[in-house]
Amino acid sequence: MRVYQNYIAGRWVAATRTLAVINPSDGLQIAEISRSGACEIDAAVLAGRAALNGLWTTVDEVSRGKLLLKTAEFIRRDFEKLAKLESDDAGKPMKVALADVAACARCFEYYGAAADKVHGETIPFRNGYTAMTFYEPYGVTAHIVPWNYPLQMTGRTVAPSLAMGNAIVLKPAEDTSLTALALAQLVEEAGFPPGVFNVVTGLGEEAGAALTAHPGIRHISFTGSREVGAVVQAAAAANTIPVTLELGGKSPQLVFSDAPLEDAAAAIVKSIVHNSGQTCSAGSRVLIQDEIYDQFTYELATRFKGLRVGSASQDLDLGPVVNAAQRTRIENYLSMARRDKLQILAEGSFATNLPVGGYYVKPTLIGDVRSDHALAQEEIFGPVLVALRFRDEDDAVRIANDTPYGLVAGVWTSDLGRSMRLSRRIEAGQVFVNNYGSGGGVELPFGGVKGSGFGREKGFEALYGFGALKTVTIRHGT
Ligand code: NAD
Repeated sequence: MRVYQNYIAGRWVAATRTLAVINPSDGLQIAEISRSGACEIDAAVLAGRAALNGLWTTVDEVSRGKLLLKTAEFIRRDFEKLAKLESDDAGKPMKVALADVAACARCFEYYGAAADKVHGETIPFRNGYTAMTFYEPYGVTAHIVPWNYPLQMTGRTVAPSLAMGNAIVLKPAEDTSLTALALAQLVEEAGFPPGVFNVVTGLGEEAGAALTAHPGIRHISFTGSREVGAVVQAAAAANTIPVTLELGGKSPQLVFSDAPLEDAAAAIVKSIVHNSGQTCSAGSRVLIQDEIYDQFTYELATRFKGLRVGSASQDLDLGPVVNAAQRTRIENYLSMARRDKLQILAEGSFATNLPVGGYYVKPTLIGDVRSDHALAQEEIFGPVLVALRFRDEDDAVRIANDTPYGLVAGVWTSDLGRSMRLSRRIEAGQVFVNNYGSGGGVELPFGGVKGSGFGREKGFEALYGFGALKTVTIRHGT
């Protein structure tokens, strides 16, 4: 069985302990990864520091961009191989894994092309002075990535940091580290100097905690749960460094009676079942106007009943969820729904020949849920859609904003004025009108408000987020 090592200072280095890598489709072990701790993290941060004091500073913006573009080229070259690795490691149906690899390549293309377009400003100041700004890299940046979109989220967070000229230490999720290590190989092949890109695998409370507490780290980018986000924020505060937190959501989809209902139903179902509902920006609450509630839930239920769950290689509508704990978490919410006598409007079905040891749950549609119920308030992170009723615009906004989260929202209406009013009133980092992009492409700034976190990924916002703005003032006389 293959034992994967850490990638530190351009070398593959074994840790003394290992963790099993499990295929969620059948629960069988497929490999081992390093179970790292403070020692490996320290080596990776020092490697990053050494690169920043050495070769990396001599690589100008144009050349940096070319290195990122070269990496993107290699990701596309190894498309199928990377998708298969992700599919085995995370349980993703191949079509989902292929889309993730493409999204990762896009991140490297986008930020590769942007690396030489980071402009400062000149600022009108006093006579005889010139004032200007520059974006400087922070130094060594830490990247903690979750298991739901391992390769895609890695691309999203490390590509802008590298484009800005930082060196990075990446700690992938313990359940899904393999594609981050495969990416390290491609980064090396592209020609990045040793130490610029380091990957250290291990548990969150060991390797993750050591990384966020390390005094050599100058910026932390974290995606994951709210609970761990708070711990990471405290670690950043202790070292007085910036942190971006992407902490998931309970994103509402608002469906008005004048909406294009077929389009809405298709997009709403896709958004909650894609990746087995393990998507931070999944539209997990559907808010339906009273007069179309029965008609629209019937439409959704028909679609839910047609959904099929299978192993990653069966490549159906949904694969397994990532691990046994995640399956139990989702099943507990479904038990709660039954206990509280909520209306189960529809369920999908399991394919025949499901591997016995896999982590499967049925996609489920639950109707007439009150906004204060746990199923309408908490992030389930599974293929469970709750439907709620609303009367009018004000009622819809009230319910949409009635959770601790604020990541994404969808508004379905043919009234242009209403779409504009709601886009401004809903508390969310992204609003989609008559479409739903679950975060959209790399071009669209993405991130939350309230309990969904702060800081923006994607777009130029993310690039600037990895730079420290410096103001230089020169007195030269008139
Ligand atoms: P998590 O927050 O525990 O893990 C996310 C990442 O943080 C992993 O890489 C993990 O190793 C690391 N980590 C854990 N403890 C750490 C610590 N003390 N210091 C530094 N890093 C640490 O998330 P999880 O247990 O994998 O999932 C639990 C729930 O979190 C999910 O059910 C879901 O609700 C939410 N989640 C959200 C997202 C998202 O995209 N926002 C992604 C995954 C999970």
